[in-house]
Amino acid sequence: MITLLLATRNAHKISEIRAILGERFRYLTLQDFPQSPAVIEDQATFAGNATKKATQLAGWGAAQDLFKGAQDPRWLVLADDSGLEVDALGGQPGVHSARFAALDSRSSGNTPDADNNAKLLRLLKDVPREDRAARFRCVLALTPVMESPVENGSPVCYADEFTLPTRLFDGVCEGRILFAASGRGGFGYDPLFAPEGFDLSFAELGEEVKNRISHRALALARLKAHLGSTA
Ligand code: IMP
Repeated sequence: MITLLLATRNAHKISEIRAILGERFRYLTLQDFPQSPAVIEDQATFAGNATKKATQLAGWGAAQDLFKGAQDPRWLVLADDSGLEVDALGGQPGVHSARFAALDSRSSGNTPDADNNAKLLRLLKDVPREDRAARFRCVLALTPVMESPVENGSPVCYADEFTLPTRLFDGVCEGRILFAASGRGGFGYDPLFAPEGFDLSFAELGEEVKNRISHRALALARLKAHLGSTA
């Protein structure tokens, strides 16, 4: 059985990924490794940040011999970097989605979803319905965890994590930003985002619909096809 180490502490992402991929994999998350180092998400693209999260964790795990002695050699790190792109804002908040409100105060950490959503509504308050197009984008990075290169003679150099063989899978969900938050499901910008073909937000539509059509669902479908063909 393949073990997927999900490079996130976000409980919502974890539950969506597990619900979509199903129980054919064994899952671990950063909640199982509280000592793992925080990754600074400073890349200009979702692909860059996803790659950085996956490769740093895979490199850290290998350096710690974290996975030594595992019965099953197929350990893979899976990182998700995702966010919202709003056309009327020139693609913002984009890679800054998790810290959109914090950008104003120059603080470095993420901001509560409610603050990010309030900022988005404020910036779009005079924008008419026809100009409120937006999309969620998700990029998944999949990196194998290898045993210590000293022991197994691998040519992979762990000094440069970006050389680890990473595969990327992306997914996009088009939609628009509503005029007010509605619904209690999901997380992040879900209460403000109505996917194409719906007048309800992701937070109102619920997880069954979201996990079928979301950016994350589409990226995971590609990942699943890849793993199915290599398993
Ligand atoms: P990340 O954890 O650095 O990838 O940041 C992701 C941020 O993008 C989250 O904190 C949310 O604000 C937003 N986001 C990503 N995916 C979703 C989603 O499925 N629903 C709502 N917001 C999302």
